Amino acid sequence: MSPQQLMERLRPLLGVRLGEPVVARDPVNLPMIHHWCDAIDDRNPVYTDPEFAQRSVHGGIVAPPTMLQAWTMPGLVSKEAREARNASGVFAVLRLLDEAGFTSVVATNCTQEYVRYLRPGDLLSAETLIEAVSEEKQTALGAGHFVTQRTSYRDQNGELVASMSFRLLKFRPPVRASAAPPAATKPRPKPAITHDNRFFWEGVAQRELRIQRCNACNRLQHPPGPMCAGCHGLDLGYVRSRGRGSVYSFVWAHHPVVPAFELPNLIVLVELEEGTRIVSNLVGVAREDVRIGLPVAVEFAEVEPGRLLPRFRPVAA
Ligand SMILES: [Zn+2]
Repeated sequence: MSPQQLMERLRPLLGVRLGEPVVARDPVNLPMIHHWCDAIDDRNPVYTDPEFAQRSVHGGIVAPPTMLQAWTMPGLVSKEAREARNASGVFAVLRLLDEAGFTSVVATNCTQEYVRYLRPGDLLSAETLIEAVSEEKQTALGAGHFVTQRTSYRDQNGELVASMSFRLLKFRPPVRASAAPPAATKPRPKPAITHDNRFFWEGVAQRELRIQRCNACNRLQHPPGPMCAGCHGLDLGYVRSRGRGSVYSFVWAHHPVVPAFELPNLIVLVELEEGTRIVSNLVGVAREDVRIGLPVAVEFAEVEPGRLLPRFRPVAA
């Protein structure tokens, strides 16, 4: 399929109603709100405490607005969910892009607008249009098309309660010459340096592993932030870590295929002797020897001339 043919086949699917709206499996309900608030650690009592909510401006329990998408998610496993998904017009667009070779997907941005708070008993339905599919673009992940979807959420009376704009990139995955992991051919993405983490990266440049410390209560925290999570103090300094610790958890990442990384990428969560944990890479270890509790020490690898990155290597206990 040529790029022109693809765009011609996509055009009739843009901005038009494609199939029936998805109706929520369950009305907005308190048990789901509880699970959400537990998972997000949102302790606003207007979501969970009926008496508090009654006295609030809402006059009763309301759902966290950011739960919006959760209400109409069809679930992963039911036959009905699969059939509904496959019948939806959105998937017709995505399938066309699959057929044209743009088989990989990554979400790029999402914006939600809330018209009103949702309350227990509201039954939502969601209707999604594909607003736009971009011309083929070159991106860091490969050539692809940006797909912009717009979902309108309505209540049981047909009133608009919220809307969402969601954009994803459907891209052509890099071709692998063999089953061997692709060599890292591009420089690693540079870290985003902010006011909060500058001390960390300045330390790395001097082969020091620095951990943020609250000057008020001495609590250590990583990654660095603008505020102490313990006492909410804003006077933050740092300590120099000894750089020793043990593997708290690890994963062999096979996806996504990004040229800057050799795959599989061994990512570890190291528990430092100081007590904080840090995400990094582990090197110098056979695949079968990686285990939780493995003693490790930091080293600084020059990933390109003049640019260091901290990583870890096994050491004797
Ligand atoms: Zn503190």
